Amino acid sequence: ESKSEGRSKLKLFDPVTLHSRQLQRQIVGDLREGIRADQLVLYYQPIVELATGNIEGCEALVRWNHPVHGLIMPDQFIPVAEATGLIAELGRWVLRTAMRQLRQWRDDPATQQTVFSMRINVSAADLQSLEFVDDVRDVLLAEGLSPDSLVLELTEGAIIQNNELDRYTLMSLRRLGVGLEIDDFGAGYSSMGYLRKLPVDRVKVDRQFVKDLGKDPSQLEFLAAIQQVIRSCGLEGVWEGIETAQEAELLRSIGCTSGQGYFFGRPLPEADFLARLKATRGHLWPIPEGFT
Ligand code: C2E
Ligand code: MG
Ligand code: MG
Ligand code: MG
Repeated sequence: ESKSEGRSKLKLFDPVTLHSRQLQRQIVGDLREGIRADQLVLYYQPIVELATGNIEGCEALVRWNHPVHGLIMPDQFIPVAEATGLIAELGRWVLRTAMRQLRQWRDDPATQQTVFSMRINVSAADLQSLEFVDDVRDVLLAEGLSPDSLVLELTEGAIIQNNELDRYTLMSLRRLGVGLEIDDFGAGYSSMGYLRKLPVDRVKVDRQFVKDLGKDPSQLEFLAAIQQVIRSCGLEGVWEGIETAQEAELLRSIGCTSGQGYFFGRPLPEADFLARLKATRGHLWPIPEGFT
């Protein structure tokens, strides 16, 4: 995380203090109010096609601009939202806001050359709501965007609950034509078997696997094997947590096609992301002078 993001982290939201019901109730109250008062903001981080260095998508990452406490990171309020049911409202806001944003970029002559898809993170609770599929369909229609403009990122935990309703929702989303991606693959107790069974078309490999690349030569062989498994299941692999040019080069050398990480760009608020898109015309690797 960047320094400014780190500084704004709050003791108030430590999981330990969240055990207090009173405090939790207060945060929930704040968050409900915050969603309605437009205090949530989306930051956007590019996903890059490793063969060309061009942007192929961006991930919308939510932050809470709290009037008193400043910028609060998602790890500190998403769990609260999930535990209280506020996540449905939050999820709808993220979906609507991100797709409206994509529509604007497509309409802007300065950025429409860089046309790409939007990735949003979806909670387990979203998959359990029957309205979720309708929400997705409605937003795409309202913005005049094709289903392949949207990729939903789902953690293994969210998909693997083996709940019939989840399966039904996933199949409906798939039929609708939106992309489905497993996020943070390998972070939990993942089973390779799921890669063949789940109705997804992409896998985002957890950033822990990229972290040791460069230090340990045998790690590259390991990652090449993972990439091969993903490919053999007919899926696309996306590699997250790329922080250096060396990591990007090594991943490209073993046939990885998509990457995301601080090396290509940190998550940025809309105006900064737009400025960078314009300055680079969507070509993010090598990073031009003047950008860090
Ligand atoms: P995620 O979906 O795995 O998102 C990637 C996280 O890794 C982001 O943290 C991003 O800032 C960070 N990251 C990106 N590149 C690098 C890198 O090169 N190095 C390192 N060390 N980190 C990198 P962030 O924004 O704090 O989000 C944390 C998590 O919160 C997300 O993990 C996602 O699970 C959740 N989240 C974020 N936005 C939403 C949302 O709108 N809805 C839901 N349900 N969850 C969200
Ligand atoms: Mg994600
Ligand atoms: Mg991830
Ligand atoms: Mg994560």
